[in-house]
Amino acid sequence: VNSLSRIIRYLFVAILVGGILSLLRSRPRSFARQGSRRPRVARRPVHLFRDPHCGTFVSPEVSIQATQAGRVEHFCSEQCRDRYLSSERQAAGATRQQA
Ligand SMILES: [Zn+2]
Repeated sequence: VNSLSRIIRYLFVAILVGGILSLLRSRPRSFARQGSRRPRVARRPVHLFRDPHCGTFVSPEVSIQATQAGRVEHFCSEQCRDRYLSSERQAAGATRQQA
């Protein structure tokens, strides 16, 4: 009877210790999850605009901007902007001549 009670006590302690350990382990996991969320926020993709003249993707922070037909276009350089705007004017003039 003594050996059986020892085994039951051992099992009880083992389950108790196991429960405490699992509780302690679950906390660092939740911290790790929060930590892994932060880089995702930092890695939020910067929306790039496509230069309609040469096709280069440019960040709005460094792009040359021009409003064309109510739309803001982003260009990689002033040359692209000027060439695009002049070609748009030529296209507009061509459609006017046709009409
Ligand atoms: Zn360009």
